[in-house]
Amino acid sequence: MTSSIYQKSTMVALLEGVYDGTITKEELSQKGDFGLGTFQALDGEMLAVDGDFYHLREGEAVKVHSKDILPFAVMTYFKGRTEINLDKVLTQKELEQQLEANMSSQNVFYAIKVEGAFQQVKTRTVAKQNKPYPPMTKVAESQPVFELENVKGTMVGFFTPAYVAGIGVPGYHFHFIDEYKTAGGHVLDVTVEHVKISLEEKTSLELDLDNTQRFRNADLDKEDIQKEIEEVE
Ligand SMILES: [Zn+2]
Repeated sequence: MTSSIYQKSTMVALLEGVYDGTITKEELSQKGDFGLGTFQALDGEMLAVDGDFYHLREGEAVKVHSKDILPFAVMTYFKGRTEINLDKVLTQKELEQQLEANMSSQNVFYAIKVEGAFQQVKTRTVAKQNKPYPPMTKVAESQPVFELENVKGTMVGFFTPAYVAGIGVPGYHFHFIDEYKTAGGHVLDVTVEHVKISLEEKTSLELDLDNTQRFRNADLDKEDIQKEIEEVE
């Protein structure tokens, strides 16, 4: 079903330090050919595009092994139904305005791919944590940040409606990989130069909860989820 998104675990569980992997790359590849996520113990970022899965760690990219496990991932099948060519320099905010102009509603999900030339991409890759796992807000305080300039590559991500905060990351969530598939991370800021955007509306979500005791016992009843997510994303 190409109109549906598969998601393993929830953003709020990551915020609480539920970082143990519960699904393999092999299993995830049955759920889609396009997506993002994070790895066991928060050891870097995952990006999947055209069925290829990459592990982004310390700003560098390698292929994911089939048995690697992830605590959190969002996957879909992506065809890129709407295509837009942008031939000018746009800040992240301006890029988001362009995306919004091509979305029929902000109450549904979108899978989004942005390919081409980027003037600047600022990324982070979360670092491997040790038990007892600290909450993600603590991890984000010291996250390593990498800046790429004048690169070609691909951003893979999703638009998630605001009301889904806690399950997902409300608004835009992108991961980036360069054209040589050697560098990338979770996008903090971006300036595009000449890109092709493809996007696809998604109107169904399969939420596959973490089934570990750690998840079952976690206190996920947060007062200000939106604020905590903004701190880490
Ligand atoms: Zn991310």
